[in-house]
Amino acid sequence: MKAGFVNIFGKPNAGKSTLLNAIIGEKLAIVSPKVQTTRHRIKGFLTTNDYQVIFSDTPGIIEPRYKLHEKMMLAVKNALEDADVALLIHDLKDKDLRGVDELFESLRLKVPVIVVCNKSDAVDRDTIENTTRFFSERQYGKEVICVSAKKGTNTDKLLSLILKYLPQGEPFYSADDMTDLPTRFFVSEIIREKIYELFEDEIPYHTAVIVQEFKEKSTLIKIRAEVIVNRETQKGIILGEKGSMIKKLGTISREEIEKFLQSKVFLELFVKVKPKWRDNEFHLKEYGYN
Ligand code: GDP
Ligand code: MG
Repeated sequence: MKAGFVNIFGKPNAGKSTLLNAIIGEKLAIVSPKVQTTRHRIKGFLTTNDYQVIFSDTPGIIEPRYKLHEKMMLAVKNALEDADVALLIHDLKDKDLRGVDELFESLRLKVPVIVVCNKSDAVDRDTIENTTRFFSERQYGKEVICVSAKKGTNTDKLLSLILKYLPQGEPFYSADDMTDLPTRFFVSEIIREKIYELFEDEIPYHTAVIVQEFKEKSTLIKIRAEVIVNRETQKGIILGEKGSMIKKLGTISREEIEKFLQSKVFLELFVKVKPKWRDNEFHLKEYGYN
């Protein structure tokens, strides 16, 4: 039996979430064209009789503008150091190969690294060959593989490579953990995804979603979630005129959550103002950003 932790790492939009979905085969990590949807470490599990692979999809790499961003970068580093295998995702469409290389190099990882060149469906043969050669000559990578997360090309081969470097051991999580552990988190991510869809500009960046209550009743699942914002004005925007926006948010979120959980859902949303939650250590901890 093999069991271990794999962290997926790369610039925003490299395709980390898509790759995780392709490997695990479920919509576990929320995919959004906008960066920074995934702030937490997301865990997806892949368990068979022979192995258990535990994946984390780390947040994208960004310039630390807020304390929250610094925390995110730290979380990225910690996550990578925790893992048995690190996947460094390169977007083949990204022309700044040197920048990506510098970034990967700067991590100075001690765990086995697989460089995954993603979006092979979107570039020509030359780009694939040149990029593969380029990364093969780097010191930090044990393996280089080109995949298309979107089309599912070579993702099974990638899984074999991961298993090659995964240590022997018993599974870390039981079947129950696998379904329960991430559920609240995914529900909050779905609501966040809908906030990205409904609201423009700054609003999503100033919003956190906390699932306060998650109760499975006989006929439906009751969920109570808080939408946290910085200022009263943002609360006003989220609520909308006579509560029209929060109502809309509730409806489209519920529909998506019902699809995800395969169950009827009763969703209650509340908006709370917590000034400066981004820069407040206490709140960061409270919301699990430590
Ligand atoms: P993340 O920020 O690294 O998690 O990236 P996402 O998984 O959210 O993907 C970012 C964008 O790249 C999305 O629009 C995806 O549809 C797209 N994408 C991801 N993988 C591929 C791929 O293999 N080929 C192509 N053409 N697009 C991809
Ligand atoms: Mg992502």
